[in-house]
Amino acid sequence: MKPTICRYCHKEIKNRDELVTASNWLRIHPFHYVCFNKKDKETATIHTAWRPVNGTAGNITFLIMLVLAIWMLATNTWGIIGDLIGLVALGRVMVRVASFLWIERKLPKV
Ligand SMILES: [Zn+2]
Repeated sequence: MKPTICRYCHKEIKNRDELVTASNWLRIHPFHYVCFNKKDKETATIHTAWRPVNGTAGNITFLIMLVLAIWMLATNTWGIIGDLIGLVALGRVMVRVASFLWIERKLPKV
């Protein structure tokens, strides 16, 4: 299996404890926990675009977005605006699922 390579230092990420998956719109990149924090400081202007996907904050966002997506797409709340919000929320849900399937699942838990 291909090793998961950190996008910042280009070294292998060995377990889930040091992994941060970050997404910028629909792109997902893996980072070491420390590297993501370093990158955060260096690219203060860009960093707002890169949001961590995994971890507690990511999981809470995932749940909120999932509920929002189902609510907006399954009902007629806010009409077309509601549908658009639902699609954006669905995009965030897909990113979270993709992060898990493509990156997190391959790394051993500690
Ligand atoms: Zn790294």
